[in-house]
Amino acid sequence: MSDPAGPPAEALAVAAAVAATSTTIEVAAANPLRDPRDKRLPRVAGPCVMVLFGVTGDLAKRKLLPAIYDLGNRGLLPPGFSLVGFARRDWQDQDFAQLTHDAVKTHARTPFREEVWRQLREGIHFVPGEFSDDGAFDALAMALREIDDLRGTGGNYAFYLSVPPKFFPVVVEQLKRTGLAEAPDGSWRRVVIEKPFGHDLKSAHELNEITTSAFPESSIFRIDHYLGKETVQNIMALRFANNLYEPIWNRSFVDHVQITMAEDIGIGGRAGYYDGIGAARDVIQNHLLQLLALVAMEDPTSFDAKALRREKEKVLMAVRLPSDLALNTARGQYAAGWQGGEKVPGYLQEDGISPDSMTETYAAVKLEIANRRWAGVPFYLRTGKRLGRRVTEVAVVFQRAPHLPFSKDDTEILGQNALVIRVQPDEGITVRFGSKVPGTAMEVRDVSMDFAYGESFLESSPEAYERLLLDVMIGDPPLFPHQREVELSWQILDPIEEFWATQGQPEPYPSGSWGPPSADAMMARDGRTWRRL
Ligand code: NAP
Repeated sequence: MSDPAGPPAEALAVAAAVAATSTTIEVAAANPLRDPRDKRLPRVAGPCVMVLFGVTGDLAKRKLLPAIYDLGNRGLLPPGFSLVGFARRDWQDQDFAQLTHDAVKTHARTPFREEVWRQLREGIHFVPGEFSDDGAFDALAMALREIDDLRGTGGNYAFYLSVPPKFFPVVVEQLKRTGLAEAPDGSWRRVVIEKPFGHDLKSAHELNEITTSAFPESSIFRIDHYLGKETVQNIMALRFANNLYEPIWNRSFVDHVQITMAEDIGIGGRAGYYDGIGAARDVIQNHLLQLLALVAMEDPTSFDAKALRREKEKVLMAVRLPSDLALNTARGQYAAGWQGGEKVPGYLQEDGISPDSMTETYAAVKLEIANRRWAGVPFYLRTGKRLGRRVTEVAVVFQRAPHLPFSKDDTEILGQNALVIRVQPDEGITVRFGSKVPGTAMEVRDVSMDFAYGESFLESSPEAYERLLLDVMIGDPPLFPHQREVELSWQILDPIEEFWATQGQPEPYPSGSWGPPSADAMMARDGRTWRRL
């Protein structure tokens, strides 16, 4: 089981070879939407096949298939690139091509161009089957060998498991059984696993045992799509490419940090996935703890996967839960209410949800980090569905000035300085600080200074999945969490989940509000409030 294709060598060789001949690279050079990093040398994937399991699912249609097209449109897919769909429909290649075409037309970020579509269409194949069907996987192995012969894909396969989590082990076992997990010399095999990686520490460990019995760790790509977002990567640029923030990025100046991922939608048609998982497992264990790690870690010695993961792991190891979980966590469940002018049902009335479900749709936790930089600085994490607005942000809230040489009246409505990194929507950064109100008095009030990603750079940001799919094909792992990070995150969450399991029904909150009263009470006890978003 080798994984020999080191990213720089592979990317360089392929890009150089392809650049000499391929029209796709010319497309990249002319494309105004091109990633600025690609100016010197496009990061082009080498010859390969992407095998997508679960192609009829929500994620494949909304995100993955459009992202593959967008990569093609940016000239970042290699000639011969092939896309194999696997699903339990009695379909032919053209049915899968039609599904891909519709998904691209509806959801792609870049404009639809016939010539790009035609190139992609040539490499589209479909293999029907159930995940438990040995014969279907044997047929897949045969189809891949034929594709290699026809399209020169060299035995390089990326297997993307866009499937319900209970099928991760089943598909991995099938890939192992058929020998597809094992890369012959000079080729590579990679597996991409979607979150959630398990539902607690034990199951995450078991899943990892199964996956590593088939693939070497270097061939396992665990996707937390937040890490593919430009603004999330920009946290590292902001902190480590500037001298402005780092000197005050510590307990001497920071009062607390709030990390929020709020959704205004309910569970939609995903009852089967969501019920029994809940807000904390769905969002805090992965997205929010990854954001915490990037905000709080020390500077890595480089941005290669090993160095970056080492720093994230160190800070996750230093996370501490407060001693009283009843007072320092909150969980809720949305009740009926109004949203966007429409009456919406409560969680317990949603299709497919049992009327006595204890699953939380809102979760808030207070965490501390036991190290010299952060001792005593609380990190408040919250997430929920059917909240007032869709927004994800990290707010670093600074301590008040030690002395205000103004009259009390003049600073009555002056808040604390804050630096807010908006992850979505309207990606950007806002700094909030006090400024004099025009006039004869010395009144000081909060104002904001805004950096909007969309206004400062001409090109639109690639979708997270574009970046991550390309990284998989190139074999570039820094933006994928290591198993150790996954397990450390479960170690943080498991005691909270165990405590909540003893607490009965989550507290209801009206749809369209900002969560249950206990979340506000948790902040009020610390003399703080949640940011109004
Ligand atoms: P989904 O809509 O339920 O799709 C699941 C896919 O798996 C469908 O194509 C389904 O085919 C197929 N499938 C299920 N059982 C099968 C079987 N026994 N044999 C063959 N195919 C089978 O799920 P999803 O929302 O796309 O999510 C996929 C994965 O991504 C999950 O692990 C989820 O946790 C993760 N994820 C999703 C999102 C998102 O926004 N959707 C975000 C982050 C992570 P049928 O159409 O025949 O049922």
